[in-house]
Amino acid sequence: MIGKAATCPLCGGDLVQGTTTFTADFGAGVVVVRHVPAETCDLCGEAWVANAIAEKLEKLVHEAKTDSRQFEVVDMAA
Ligand SMILES: [Zn+2]
Repeated sequence: MIGKAATCPLCGGDLVQGTTTFTADFGAGVVVVRHVPAETCDLCGEAWVANAIAEKLEKLVHEAKTDSRQFEVVDMAA
């Protein structure tokens, strides 16, 4: 949960709207998702992803697992 907070829960730095690259290594394979909408901390660089986006990422990882894909790159900006 990031809610509407504009500060980083970890270090208190400012959160800036941008994108991040999400990677998930689930053992049998790897999923990389580029251009994931996120708020990133300008101090520690931590990326905070909204719940709706996190659910999409989980779904992508689940699909890759189910299909036994070894390597998948998804571009959310596409
Ligand atoms: Zn931070």
